[in-house]
Amino acid sequence: MRTFWLNFHLGYACRHSGACCTSGWPIPVEHDRVIPIRSLAARPDTAWLIADPNAPAEVAGTLAVRPNGECTFFRIPASGALPSTPGCAVHPARPSSCSHFPYVCLIDARGVHVTLSHYCPTAASMLFEPAQPIAIIEGPSPVLDRALPEGLDARDSLPPLETPTRLMTFDAFTAWERTAIAEVSAPVSPAVSIDRFECVRRSVPQPWSWPEAPPDFAQQWQALVAARWPAFAAVVRRYRAAKIFASWAAYQGDGRLTVIRLADLADAALRVEAVRQCLQAGRALDAELLKQAVRRTDLLLVHYADGRVLSSGTAP
Ligand code: SF4
Repeated sequence: MRTFWLNFHLGYACRHSGACCTSGWPIPVEHDRVIPIRSLAARPDTAWLIADPNAPAEVAGTLAVRPNGECTFFRIPASGALPSTPGCAVHPARPSSCSHFPYVCLIDARGVHVTLSHYCPTAASMLFEPAQPIAIIEGPSPVLDRALPEGLDARDSLPPLETPTRLMTFDAFTAWERTAIAEVSAPVSPAVSIDRFECVRRSVPQPWSWPEAPPDFAQQWQALVAARWPAFAAVVRRYRAAKIFASWAAYQGDGRLTVIRLADLADAALRVEAVRQCLQAGRALDAELLKQAVRRTDLLLVHYADGRVLSSGTAP
């Protein structure tokens, strides 16, 4: 199957930042990974594999997590080690979730479409690098040891909706995507940003939660962010493109209208998290703070929020 990427994501390679390995996530371990991991773990299974009676049939359990949120197999590479040295003691046998992070894949009748979770600091940095005009280009499979990556498999679906009552053709969908990724979001008031952010926040399923927007958001936006935002227009545009391309919402809601609505929600959440980062750092927006805001926004959107709830517009 052909695989498509946004051009500014194509060079992605894990730089072993450890962000995904220290997040406290319950990483599922497939049955076929247990023996390969066991051969590298050098400890009893009970020291690293947590049984989960509610797990899907193909899952043996989840990886043990240290009290500080580190995966039990995470290790800090020795000083002087090459940047490519994995911080994972079982890297060749790591679970499927690990080899898929930070890829977010949509698979449909046209091929595999790859975007990234910018919670990964390496992926977030790519938004800030000088790049050609945004484009969709063909590239390699993101996970080379599998015929198809994990993701939303919409190969049996009809093309997305153009309007609530009319389907696109796949060619029309492709043409629309190539135009939509280059478009900027319409200006909105701080009040609209807050409403949209709240929509995302309310979609986070319990027992998880996400902090409210900072108090006095409108004033803080003006004081700390508004004057500096235009300097990062290219970054914000690439981030928006990464929400439009490979969006699962194309097949989960009202087609292209839902894709754009979720891109608008992402833009609003990024603005709120930018203000939050500025307040925490006690300074106006700069590239480092925006990068952290991007990471937090994708932690919320990709890893906490319920995408189906957002796509259906039924957040409580
Ligand atoms: S198994 Fe390895 S790659 Fe996966 S979370 Fe643990 S340390 Fe990270």
